[in-house]
Amino acid sequence: MVTVQTPKLPLDQLSPRQLMSLDACTRCGECQKWCPVYTLENKEDVTPRAKMKYLKDILRSQYSGFLGLKLFKPEINPDIFDNFSRRLYDCSCCNQCHFVCPVRIDTVELWENIREAMFVSRLGPAPDSRTYCETLKQYGNPYKKEQSARTDWIEKGLAKGTLLARPEFIQVNLAPVLLFLGCTASFDEKINLVSQHAANILSYAGIPFGILGPDEFCCYGKLRRIGDPEFQSLARANLEKLNTLGINTLVTACAGCYKTIKQDYSKIGRQNFKVYHLAEYIDILLAEGKISLNVPIPGKITYHDPCLLGRHNGIYEAPRRVLRAIPQLELVEMERNRQYSRCCGVGGGLKMANHDLQEAASVYRIREAEATGAGYLTTPCPTCYSGLAGGAEKNGSPIKLYHFAELVSKAMGIKSDL
Ligand code: SF4
Ligand code: SF4
Repeated sequence: MVTVQTPKLPLDQLSPRQLMSLDACTRCGECQKWCPVYTLENKEDVTPRAKMKYLKDILRSQYSGFLGLKLFKPEINPDIFDNFSRRLYDCSCCNQCHFVCPVRIDTVELWENIREAMFVSRLGPAPDSRTYCETLKQYGNPYKKEQSARTDWIEKGLAKGTLLARPEFIQVNLAPVLLFLGCTASFDEKINLVSQHAANILSYAGIPFGILGPDEFCCYGKLRRIGDPEFQSLARANLEKLNTLGINTLVTACAGCYKTIKQDYSKIGRQNFKVYHLAEYIDILLAEGKISLNVPIPGKITYHDPCLLGRHNGIYEAPRRVLRAIPQLELVEMERNRQYSRCCGVGGGLKMANHDLQEAASVYRIREAEATGAGYLTTPCPTCYSGLAGGAEKNGSPIKLYHFAELVSKAMGIKSDL
């Protein structure tokens, strides 16, 4: 009979604080109540509480010190390990569990570090996610497109007359502001109208800005979420390049790029520029009187907080202030909003790890938006936008989805029949 060995998980890179957090978990179950994946799966093993317990047991089973004595040593059979390693990726890294945890365990950082240990030891992730990482590194974007295609939206917009002016490609000291569009807003043909709106808004406001054009690169945030350790070297190279541009401000239209550049890159090295999300920047332009929102948009709208902008970065009110400034537009909130906003499921590599689960999460969020009675739904992240658009289509939803930049552009009176 062949005996299947339980794999060993190299967890040396967990910090003492992270190791102690496994003991800090009181198993209260608060995370379970709020986890969007648990709502859909209804199985204990997807919850942070269960993952904490499995991880602690795995650690103790591998430990050869005092705690590793037979008396304390839990039996981890290969099936338990296999289940843990699959469930680790059934998570969108939405950060809700951290927010509701009474002892404030930094769950997402823990999941990302364990995913890295799995990646290095080839115990995870599933083949589709690993292939996704390889594609990202090979092409510099997840769409398998040549870098030259990053600017197709410019020619399209100019030809249609919907892009006000050709944006300059930034060179050293060309402009103080870099508009960093991100892969989704650059390549995805259903979403790259966001790039046109973002560029139009900055042009209209008279902001001296440039884009990187074909020299823009993926922020590689997904590598970090999925656990690919090459994130470190690729992010360092990106940061060094950004630091040489002579910019003082980087504005990005994507919540994923925002979290990655603002938070993950700053752990790698010093940034000599400030990072803003477009929604935050528009709020500043409005407050400084550089733009005005005079064109009415009659109707009710509800707002989806991207997890990476909201819970991960604390930006809740800036986009809401902008929406409230649009004449005749009434903002109504979903039951779960701000810190408690329900994830649409597209983050954290969940889309690659478990597409059905991601789609179910998007449909669930669309139903919550419909329940407000709003005719419109908006979000300022291209990735959330794509997930919600998929959810709306699947649900046959009558709700009209707007990207935040599109609404602002309309309210500014910029031609926007894209
Ligand atoms: S909320 Fe925090 S303490 Fe409670 S079970 Fe979840 S991880 Fe453990
Ligand atoms: S990060 Fe979100 S999806 Fe992942 S376990 Fe926590 S609450 Fe659930």
